[in-house]
Amino acid sequence: MAGTLFVVGTPIGNLEDMSVRAVKTLHEVDFIAAEDTRVTFKLLNHFEIKKPMLSYHEHNAKEKGSEIIARLQSGENCAIVTDAGMPCISDPGEDLVRLCAEHGIDTKVIPGPSAAISALALSGISTAKFVFEGFLNPQKNAKKERLEELKREPRTIIFYEAPHKLLDTLQAMNEVLGDRKITLARELTKIYEEVIRTTLSQAVDLYTEKAPKGEFVLVVEGMQQEEQSLTFEQALELIKALTDKGEPLSKAAKDVARQTGFKKGELYSRFLEK
Ligand code: SAM
Repeated sequence: MAGTLFVVGTPIGNLEDMSVRAVKTLHEVDFIAAEDTRVTFKLLNHFEIKKPMLSYHEHNAKEKGSEIIARLQSGENCAIVTDAGMPCISDPGEDLVRLCAEHGIDTKVIPGPSAAISALALSGISTAKFVFEGFLNPQKNAKKERLEELKREPRTIIFYEAPHKLLDTLQAMNEVLGDRKITLARELTKIYEEVIRTTLSQAVDLYTEKAPKGEFVLVVEGMQQEEQSLTFEQALELIKALTDKGEPLSKAAKDVARQTGFKKGELYSRFLEK
């Protein structure tokens, strides 16, 4: 009889978040597929678990995937773990689960923390409906194009980002999405855990002054209903109100474009035509 693949969630920082069932499962399986065996070795040591490991990551997933399937088919049980959090969520595992499904191999989940859901819970931003974007493409144009596609998304949007790319991403978000609410959840469950509930422009200012450190989840408010329901004519009226207050037309058109999702150029030229 074929074995089972156990998808095991591990802590995102604080080892006390390791579940009793996760420890038990890692004790009981025949082998562990780990994203980085050195990282998992420390986790196993902490819980006094001695178990053979094999490395399974995005660069060897094809070849190791077949090896793991063969071992499962021969009756061994395998646990897959990653460096932190839930496997398969911006982490290796998805392909292995799919392979198991294709081969009729049983899969079970041992749920653990995920940085995305933990950050959402603390965000103070609507949790009723949300989407997970994971990492944006670091390439400038591709990043902005994707943000343009997300601009009119009404649900809360969750992103992962590396500290050295954070400022660039915040700037792109502020430019494309406009000055919305954002919560930056940093180093969750660790000593320097911090939750910053602010706006995109203020977040840009903050990280222009000091370099971001640690791991971040960004929870960004979706487009608000008032903005979505604005007609083009109403957007032009907003520009008028801003220019009447002395704001230069190009800035007013840019701000209203951000707020409403209409194109800056169209707003600008139609305003001049009026
Ligand atoms: N599978 C993992 C999960 O479900 O939490 C996510 C893995 S992904 C490769 C790593 C990213 O998750 C980091 O770049 C960061 O955005 C986020 N992350 C992981 N641990 C975190 C923590 N303790 N605090 C904040 N963000 C974290």
